[in-house]
Amino acid sequence: MTSLCVPLTADHCPQMAEQIAQATRLGADMVELRLDHLRDPDLDAIHALMSRAGQFAVGVIITCRLAEEGGNFTGSEEQRVKLFEVAALVGGDYMDIELAAWRRSALLRERIDALRQARDPSRPLKLILSRHDFEKTPADLSNILKDIAREPCDVVKLATKAESIVDSLRVLDALRESAAKRPTIALAMGEAGLLSRVLAGRFGALLTFASLETGQESAPGQVTIADMLGLYRYNSIGPATAVYGVIGCPVGHSMSPAIFNAAFGEIGHDAVYLPLRIEPPYEAFAAFVDNCLSRPWLNMSGCSVTIPHKENLLRYVAERGGEVEPLARRIGAANTLHVQTGELSLAACNTDYRGAMNALCAGIGCTREELGRFSVAVLGAGGVSRAIVAGLRDCGCRVTIYNRTFDRAKTLAAEFGAEARPLEQAADHGADVIINCTSIGMWPNVDDTPLPADALIGKPVVFDTIYNPIETRLLREARLRGCRTVDGVSMFVGQAAAQFERWIGRPAPLDIMRGILRRRLGR
Ligand code: NAP
Repeated sequence: MTSLCVPLTADHCPQMAEQIAQATRLGADMVELRLDHLRDPDLDAIHALMSRAGQFAVGVIITCRLAEEGGNFTGSEEQRVKLFEVAALVGGDYMDIELAAWRRSALLRERIDALRQARDPSRPLKLILSRHDFEKTPADLSNILKDIAREPCDVVKLATKAESIVDSLRVLDALRESAAKRPTIALAMGEAGLLSRVLAGRFGALLTFASLETGQESAPGQVTIADMLGLYRYNSIGPATAVYGVIGCPVGHSMSPAIFNAAFGEIGHDAVYLPLRIEPPYEAFAAFVDNCLSRPWLNMSGCSVTIPHKENLLRYVAERGGEVEPLARRIGAANTLHVQTGELSLAACNTDYRGAMNALCAGIGCTREELGRFSVAVLGAGGVSRAIVAGLRDCGCRVTIYNRTFDRAKTLAAEFGAEARPLEQAADHGADVIINCTSIGMWPNVDDTPLPADALIGKPVVFDTIYNPIETRLLREARLRGCRTVDGVSMFVGQAAAQFERWIGRPAPLDIMRGILRRRLGR
């Protein structure tokens, strides 16, 4: 069982003792006492801290890092060793020492050896030897772990800065190999390292770290223990857990991990869903998916795909001989990757179309056939607009596309048999339905609107695809003028539910997904 370890970084012993209680309450199995964060560490106070730590049912790691090791300690080596001695004489299960310091300092080696030998064998003090690289993930991770294991330690630890998620996958390669032979901690730091932290338990790590709260991380990329247990359902992740995620750039703001993980939990499906930030070029997208698929043990089963990778997904699946849904090909963008492991097969499809059409019909209270009676003004000519214009034209609607970049509107209109106009003419639309597919009015620019309120005269139906905020200025002004309004939440949940059903083959728990989204968006 891979422990969930919370590093504690208070700057005084009494506060650190409080943090032990807090971490235990939040579900930590272990705490790491970062003695290097204590200002003027007083030996009596450390004695009291260690005694207090012994009263909780958590494992304790004692750590005191120098600046070059990613820590704050500025005293002499003798002072550092003294801190270790005072702490370890009272308690602690592990002591974490940087490999370079261990090799460099005979003082450190001799005194820590003596401490370990003085321990009652029923309560051993285990030695973690660690190697950190805060700049990059070096080439040969496996050899680095083997090199650490040459020293007389109980646990080998490697923490490197991930420059891309592929680095996280390489760290997991090294973890799998090393953990089969000896207790190992291996993780990637930074935003791109998340996958290695959340999945560490699947590959036999001794522990993975999670911060006590936002702002109390001891290394870049740690998620909070609340998110680890609540959002990512860490305790449900096992050897067979399927991996899903949202590929985009950026993805930090995405609501998809929250709604999918909650949905998996609701139906008891053994899966986890992660944010996967991949830089824009096609090559980065292809390298990431190739790297996932070449590691069948990862069990990567599907991805939601968002800006700027929707076209990349179509190209990738076509180039790898997978199945591209005709609708997605016609729209020119896909938002769903489905991977069937076993006999590996790939498929790309577009669920924005279904999500948007269902939301619109439900909002108006009509069937898709009945929708064909309406004339529609579509604002925007980007990815979402393409899916919606295709859907509207399939229903037989008369569609006019208004866009800031007029050429884009003309190209899209020509493809789907619609009309094109510059965005400045949108106020004179004369349509029954207005659909905003631009990002005007999206958080944080919540005071912006793509249309003056006067353009809502005649009470058209107004659908805003933006879901953050749920009620945009456009929707608020439309509601106040008596228009029927449709918000972006219904479309977002609809397209996510269609992905869920495609991947899992079971109906999505819509109420749970909707509830999570509304709660996260503060409504
Ligand atoms: P996209 O491909 O980048 O297209 C953005 C569109 O917005 C383009 O037409 C662009 O015009 C226009 N635009 C952006 N900023 C503008 C500005 N300041 N003034 C005038 N026009 C502007 O993005 P997308 O994927 O289609 O997403 C568009 C919207 O859909 C976003 O607001 C997003 O919130 C929403 N969305 C909703 C869902 C859902 O499920 N509810 C899912 C995805 C996206 P130009 O062509 O001139 O650049």
